[in-house]
Amino acid sequence: MAFAITQTCCADASCVSVCPVNCIHPAPGEPDFGTTDLLYIDPATCIDCGACADACPVDAIFPAGDLTGPLRAYEQINAEYYAGRDVLAGVSAAPNFHRWAPPSFPRVLPSDFAPLDVAVVGTGPAGMYAVEDLLLHTNARVTLVDRLPVAGGLIRYGVAPDHPSTKKIGETFARFHDHPRLRLRLGVSAGPDLAGQHDAVIYAVGATDARRLGVPGEDLPGSLPAATVVGWYNGHPDVGPDAVGLSADRVVVVGTGNVALDIARILTADPAALASTPIAPEALARLRSGKVREVVLLARRGPETAAYTPPELLALASRGDLVVDTHDPRIAAAIDGAAAGEKAAWLRGVPREAVDWSSPPPDGRPRVVLRFHSAPVAFRGDPEVRAVLASGPAGDVEIAAGRVVRAAGFRGAPVPGLPFDEETGTIPNTAGRVAGLPGAYVAGWIKRGPSGGIGANKACARETVGALLADAVAGRLPGRPRRKGVGRARNRAFGAT
Ligand code: SF4
Repeated sequence: MAFAITQTCCADASCVSVCPVNCIHPAPGEPDFGTTDLLYIDPATCIDCGACADACPVDAIFPAGDLTGPLRAYEQINAEYYAGRDVLAGVSAAPNFHRWAPPSFPRVLPSDFAPLDVAVVGTGPAGMYAVEDLLLHTNARVTLVDRLPVAGGLIRYGVAPDHPSTKKIGETFARFHDHPRLRLRLGVSAGPDLAGQHDAVIYAVGATDARRLGVPGEDLPGSLPAATVVGWYNGHPDVGPDAVGLSADRVVVVGTGNVALDIARILTADPAALASTPIAPEALARLRSGKVREVVLLARRGPETAAYTPPELLALASRGDLVVDTHDPRIAAAIDGAAAGEKAAWLRGVPREAVDWSSPPPDGRPRVVLRFHSAPVAFRGDPEVRAVLASGPAGDVEIAAGRVVRAAGFRGAPVPGLPFDEETGTIPNTAGRVAGLPGAYVAGWIKRGPSGGIGANKACARETVGALLADAVAGRLPGRPRRKGVGRARNRAFGAT
C-alpha cells in the first residue's frame, strides 16, 4: 500500500526532500514543477515510510488505503500521473539512497558580513517564505510588517474556512513570528521610512483587486468583487458584516477558478456544517437566515479548459448538489469524449440539465450550476443588480440574480513610491528586483501576477531573496557598506549594543 497526496496539497515540496526513495514528483527542478495541481506519489516505488505525511504542512498525505469519501479518488489520481510516463528518466531512479547529494548552504554570506536589516511587507505565503529563507539561511534581522492587525494574509483572509488543512500552513509560518531575529509590526502601513531604516525591503503585498470585466452594469450595487465575499466570510477587517446580502434566491458568480468554487461552496453549504469552522460569526448568521437556493458559475471557456483545479471540483461535486447546464452541445461532447485524467472527464458523474432560466431555482437543497461557454454580456438592474445577460449559442439569455460576484481573476494594486505596470497589475521587476529602485524587491503575486497556489510562492520568494543577497554581496544595496563594525540606529530595536 502506498501513500497518496490529496486535495489540499500546497505544492511547496516540503515532502519531496524527506522522501528516501524520491518517489514524489514533479520535484523542484523538474520541468512540470509549479504547473501541476498537486504533487504525486508514485505507488510503484513508495515504501510506505510515512515521512512525507509528517513533513506535509497542510496534512494532505495519507496512506491510500485509509482514504474515504471523495478523497478515495486520489489513489487513482496519484497513480494516473505516472501511468505510461517515464517520469524518472533523466531525473533519478528509485530507490535512490545512494543518490543523496551532499548538503549545500547556498545562502552563506562572507564571514565578515554584518547582518542585513531587511523589512518584509506582507504576512501571507510569499512574505513568510521570504522570511523563512532569510531567518533560516542567513543572519539577517527581519522586520515583518502588515497593515492588518492580524497576521496571515491570504492564509488567514483568503483560504475558505471549510479548508482547515490548507489553513494549517499558517501555523508553520507563525512559528517564525517569535524568532529572536524577527520584529513583527502589525496594523502598520509601509511608508517611505521603511526603506530608510533597512538595507532592503521586500514587498509581498499580494493582488486582491478584481480584474475588470468591461461589461455594462459592472459597478451596480449588488455586483461584488470576489475579494469582498471572501473577506466577508473570513472576517476581514476591511469588509463589514453587511457587505454580502443574501436575500435573493440566486447568485451569479462570473468565473470558475478555485476562488469562484470556494464562494459557490460556502454560499450553498449547510450552515450547520460550517459552524465548526473559523468562518466569521456574522457571516455564519447571515448564511443561516439567507435565502440563496442556487449559485450559477459562468464560464467563458468549456469544461476541457475550465479554470478550476480538479481537486476543488471533486470537493464540490462530492456534495451531490452540482449540476451542469447543457445549453450548448459542445459541453456534453467534451465531457463524454474526454480521456481519463483529462479535465472534462471529472464531470462525467455530475448530473446534467437544460436549465430553464425563466424559472426560479428549484425548491430543496441549494445547488450549484456550472454554465460553460457563456460570458456575461451586461449586468441589469436599477438601482441594484437584478439580472445578468449571459451569452449562449442560441443567443443571450437573461438570468435573474439578486447578487453577482466578479471572480474572473485578480490584479495587484499600486504601492506608493514603487513603479507599477497597469497592464499586468504588477510591479516591474527582474527576478524580484524592482526596476530602477535599488534596495526594493517584490515577491508573490505582486511580482509575477495572480497565478499559482501557496507553494508556488516558495520558489518565487527564494528567487527574490537570492537576488537581494547577491546585491548585498556585490555592494549594490543603497546605504552603508556591509562589512562588520558599521552600526546603525536600528540595531537598538533588536537590543544590539
Ligand atoms: Fe516517499 Fe515514504 Fe512518502 Fe512513500 S511514504 S512517498 S516512500 S516519504
